[in-house]
Formats: sequence, structure tokens, C-alpha cells
Amino acid sequence: MHIRIPALFAAMLLLASTGVAQAAHSKSTLLRDVRVIDGNGGQPLEHADVLITGSRIKAVESQPIDAKKLPPNTTIITADGKTVLPGLISDHSHLGLTKGTSQSGSNATRANILRQLRQYTAYGVTTVTSLGLNLKPFYDLQPQAHSGATRTADMFGADRGFGTVNSVPPASMGLLDTQVYRPQTPEEARAEVRETAQRHPDLIKIWVDDAHHTMPAKMNPEVYKAIIDEAHANGLRVAAHVFYLDDAKSLVGDSVDILAHGVRDTAVDPEFVKSIKGRGAWYVPTLSLDESAYVFAEHPEWLQQPFLRHALQPSLFAQLNNPAWRSKVLNDSKTLAAQKQAVATNMKNVKALFDAGVNVGFGTDSGATPLRIAGFAEHRELKLLTEAGLTPVQAIQTATKNAAALLHLDDRGVIAPGKLADLLVVDGDPSKDITAVDNIESVWRRGRKVSDAKWFKPRPAAQKATAGPAAPGRPQPQPQPPN
Ligand SMILES: [Zn+2]
Repeated sequence: MHIRIPALFAAMLLLASTGVAQAAHSKSTLLRDVRVIDGNGGQPLEHADVLITGSRIKAVESQPIDAKKLPPNTTIITADGKTVLPGLISDHSHLGLTKGTSQSGSNATRANILRQLRQYTAYGVTTVTSLGLNLKPFYDLQPQAHSGATRTADMFGADRGFGTVNSVPPASMGLLDTQVYRPQTPEEARAEVRETAQRHPDLIKIWVDDAHHTMPAKMNPEVYKAIIDEAHANGLRVAAHVFYLDDAKSLVGDSVDILAHGVRDTAVDPEFVKSIKGRGAWYVPTLSLDESAYVFAEHPEWLQQPFLRHALQPSLFAQLNNPAWRSKVLNDSKTLAAQKQAVATNMKNVKALFDAGVNVGFGTDSGATPLRIAGFAEHRELKLLTEAGLTPVQAIQTATKNAAALLHLDDRGVIAPGKLADLLVVDGDPSKDITAVDNIESVWRRGRKVSDAKWFKPRPAAQKATAGPAAPGRPQPQPQPPN
């Protein structure tokens, strides 16, 4: 039996034939007449049909799929005017480090990590990489996130990470001693990499920075050489926090796999472009990182928008809404100028590197500090990538296909048959205006709708009443109270 539903996509009706909805893993859904931005960086496919069976995309057709050819009991959702794109993937975020306005290793609880994963999910970020400072609760939750049991974004991570004594990452972030190694010799570093490897992380993280020359030392190149070498010997890749071009060059020369931030002190030069491209290393610009320090002070009116409000726990809302906090940020002209310069340099560099064919991934460092706001930051990053000169579909490509490739995940990141149905459905056409990505209609993970974005789009009561119940056996996630 096939059920046809007219175009009332706003409510995302999900009807299912009685009796088969329980078999959710093999259920089929057809997204009828949608615009598809497939993640490959090309122009969208218009008036396409996307068929999902179980957790995977079964077919993507430019012509309407004949209803007779659909699997039995397929739910059909007609979605004219909507765009389907792969769920966003962050290659650089942090889970369990922030809560409200607090930043502390003691926030690494299962409940807090789940809260953050739900927040990413609500914003269409369906895979999150927690790039360092991870503790046991991360590993405890990871298998459930992988399987889809959490009904949230998936999670990958980089164990604790390697920093420098009395330097970056600063203990003033509230870090516990167990969250970061600070090896002083290559031998110590190698032993700690081997210890890390026993926990089977997805990546290794190192910090090579002196926080604008405010810290006494940067990681000794002999130490990071040893970490990279030992990681590779253990089948692990290394992502490096960087700021300066000289460090980026040295790390790439020493075979680092991923630069987890953009170069922000100066313009990249042809020598660096040639080196990073030749070695196939990845570059994650994190444009929104420096901007997050001041942009909320500059835009108090954003606090009126549900799209930001939903991401703010009460204490963080109170901070952003406090005129004294805003003045303090905006009146610190020296810091503000440095942050804006970092953003401008970062934007120029990512455009040059993307155009040169360098592997550009996607990340924001969301969750590292309270102002790097999970989910919201990723949408800001897409906007900044287009301001840097990437086209909207190129920006989306970095956040989908490329971000998955960086993680060596070939099961997601593009909309194609056989890939996981991790999807973001939005109103409008993000290929023309990237901010359409903010008009979230629904978010799908492994073929199941995990968010209907009701926080962002309060709907009239009359329309709600016609929305009908959720399909039997497929409970819809409840709206979260404001965090
Ligand atoms: Zn980070």
C-alpha cells in the first residue's frame, strides 16, 4: 500500500501503514520533488526524488520515481521548494567541555555530551568530531552514537591531546590533568601516544601555539615530530592546532595529517601551498572561531532570533544580553582589532588554498569555549566561507563531502545511493543564498527524522492541529526546553 501525501511539507507529515512502522530499520521514505545539493560542489539537481530505505539512501532520481516501483509501504513526502543536503559534518568541535558559561573538564558528563549532541542535531550537524580533551564518558557514549541509538549526531574524537607544560592548551580553561598530556621529551611523547592508542581514538590532537605570544613556550618540534611518527606507527593520524604560518609549514613538513585551524598571522605563500597540497594534508579554517569572541556583542539583535536563542543556555543568554559584557568586548579595541585581523587573514587564506586545490575540511572549534556555540557556529562558518569567496555549494562541499573525507568516512557526506541517509532539509535554495541553510525543516540521521526544527519556526496553532500524530512506533523527538 502506498500513501500519497499532498504538499504539506511544513509539517513533515509522516504517515505509515499500520503494522509496518515497527520495522523502522527497513522502512522506506520518498522525498518527492526536492532540490538536491549532493555535497560534491556542483549545481543542485532540481525536482529530484530521493528514496531512503532503512538507514541508507536507496536512489536519487532526476525524474519522479513511479509509485509502482517503490518498496511496499513507502512514506511519500512531497517537498516542492525544499532543498535536501547531506547533514553537516564538523571536523573540529569539542564535546563535554562547556555548559552555559562554564568551561571545565568537569562538564564531561554523559548527560552534557548528549545535550550537546542533541543541539548539533537540531542545527543539522549530524557528525561531530571532538578534537581532543576527551575523557571516559566520550568513549562510553561513542558506540551508541555510531549505531544511531542516541538519535543524535554521530561522534568521533581525538582522545586527550598533547600540549605543552605551562602553555597551550592553558590550564585556565578548567582542564583536568587527565585531559591533556604535556610531554617534555620525545621519549615521553612516544610512550603517551602508545598509551593513547590503546583507547582506540579516531585521531591524535596536538597544540602548537603560544596564544599570541602570551605563553612562555610552544611545543618543541622534536616532541611533535615524535608524536606524529609514533601516531603513524600506530595507525593514527594527527591533527594540529596552529595559528602561525611558520608552525603550519614545519608541521606539514613533518607529515602532520590535518591542520585543525587556519593560518591567521599572515598570508599563506606558494611554498606552503605547494607543500600542503603535495602531501595531501587537510586544512580546517575555523573562520568563525575568532569572530565568535565579538560577533554576539556586535549583534545584540540576534538574541531575538529563535535560531540563536535555541542554542543558548540561560546563563549564556544572560551574558550575551548584558550591556556591560558587550561594552567590555567592544571597548577592548586592541583585542578586537587582532581578532578581526585574524578573521580577515583566515578568510583570504582559505580562499587561496581552496582555489589551489588543497583539501579543505570543515570545523569551528564549537564547544571549546561558551561563545563557540554548538550548531549555530557551523551555520556561521558556512556564511563566512561564502564571504571569503567560496560559492555556497563549495562551502557546503567543505562541510559535507570534504569533512567526511577528512575523517576517512566513505559512508556519508554526499547524497548518493548506498550512503547513510544523514540529511538536512531546508526551505529555499542555499545554492543561491547560503543563509537558506538556516531555514531548517527537518534533520535526518540514518534514515530517521531526528529533528523537525520546531524551535526555529513557531507555527500557528491551526497548522499544528492539522499536523497529525507521529507514525506508530516512530515517536518524534520532543521539543527541548531552551537549554
Ligand atoms: Zn579545538
